[in-house]
Amino acid sequence: MKFGGTSVEGATAFQNAARIVSERRELRPVVVVSAMAGFTDALLASVKEALHGDASSAASTLEKHFDRHLRVIEALLSSEAQRMRNLIEQSRSEINERLHAMAVETDQDDNQRKRFADAVASFGERLSAAMLSAVLVENKVSSTDVDARLCIVTDDEYGCAAPLIGETFRRTREQLQPLLESRSVPVLGGFIGATLGGETTTLGRGGSDYSAAIIGAALAAEEIQIWTDVPGVLTADPRVAPKARTVPKLSFEEAAELAYFGAKVLHPKTLQPAIERNIPVRICNSRAPESGSTLVVAETEKSPQTVKAIAHKTGVTTVQVTSARMLGAYGFLRALFEVFDQHRTAVDVVTTSEVSVSLSLDDISALPSIVAELEKLGSVNVEEKRAILCIVGEGLRSTPGIAARIFSTISDINVSLISQGASRINLTFAVEEARAREAVTRLHREFFEDSDEEASKYLTAEIETAV
Ligand code: ASP
Ligand code: MG
Repeated sequence: MKFGGTSVEGATAFQNAARIVSERRELRPVVVVSAMAGFTDALLASVKEALHGDASSAASTLEKHFDRHLRVIEALLSSEAQRMRNLIEQSRSEINERLHAMAVETDQDDNQRKRFADAVASFGERLSAAMLSAVLVENKVSSTDVDARLCIVTDDEYGCAAPLIGETFRRTREQLQPLLESRSVPVLGGFIGATLGGETTTLGRGGSDYSAAIIGAALAAEEIQIWTDVPGVLTADPRVAPKARTVPKLSFEEAAELAYFGAKVLHPKTLQPAIERNIPVRICNSRAPESGSTLVVAETEKSPQTVKAIAHKTGVTTVQVTSARMLGAYGFLRALFEVFDQHRTAVDVVTTSEVSVSLSLDDISALPSIVAELEKLGSVNVEEKRAILCIVGEGLRSTPGIAARIFSTISDINVSLISQGASRINLTFAVEEARAREAVTRLHREFFEDSDEEASKYLTAEIETAV
């Protein structure tokens, strides 16, 4: 069970997380927790400031965050309170010492700076793990705070270290199995690890999901639960489609297609260890644990209404390159993509014809130079203020008429860049940004709100069996 930063943002959230764990303790959970929301940002900002030479001011920006921790302790702990206050005090002075040492160090190289940043950032997860474990104990749930650095062994790429899987699995089992056997709930910080030499590392921002997937895989868990502040994956953005509801079940493939649009919920890379071992991942809402969740599994059946979710993203730019030189030639696409490669710009959706290529970009900071280069290859047309819509569902693979239904629902809206991925579980296209909301609303109504009784029965049944 992994709890993100907003699920431990204050006393109420900690209490809530502890209750959720406690109610499921018969399932023998292992808990992975993030830093309190905003604390990692603050720690990394203090590192920057110290590197600029101002350690005292860097340290003072952290005071309000230590106070936040202390408030949780005052609100929730009694027998554990003093031990936790001491831990906060000790961490505060250790961080201060490190910040001061770093501020006077004049000739550190980039690697030393990153190593220093990881050491400081690690306190966020270390403190929240110790505190959540203490809150569990206070609630009469046997629990052990486990230093994640004893489990997750990584290379020395500070700032985005890669776990050494074999050794990590071995140590994770060694550390956690005895605790599970003795019915003590292990609580570990996500995001952090250590090199073989014992230096603290981090797995990259947002890395706690990855930690949870690795630990779940090491223990061959029945399920990996990501507890967050949204009700799982929704059929559409609820700000656009107010009747959006939780999708009960998705395949990893479907979830990966959606990740680009709601990347915050689940990043496919972080799920890799779970995917490889076929461990289902459930996205649960820590604010409303009974209100439904999304289960992500290796294979799902198609849903009666075929479409499972409609995602969209605004602020997209599309670029079209047309050249007769493309016809029958080779090397053209390589030359074209090399331009994006050189400018380190990610391309998202791509479609091609014999003589033209269209693609979509999020990041247009290098667009002027990209266009100048592309003009050497053909004529270039840029369209700003576009939106990408993505319709996902296993059934798109095999159900005739779905594309017709999609496009006739929005027949008066101009679509471009139509693409169906190789997996054929998605249909993606671009529309004018100004019409994106309308397109999503209409498609949601068509596929989810007017849907027949059978479909709604299916959804209700799935939600009831979830959690
Ligand atoms: N606390 C870390 C971060 O903010 C890791 C995480 O929350 O997943 O990036
Ligand atoms: Mg997070």
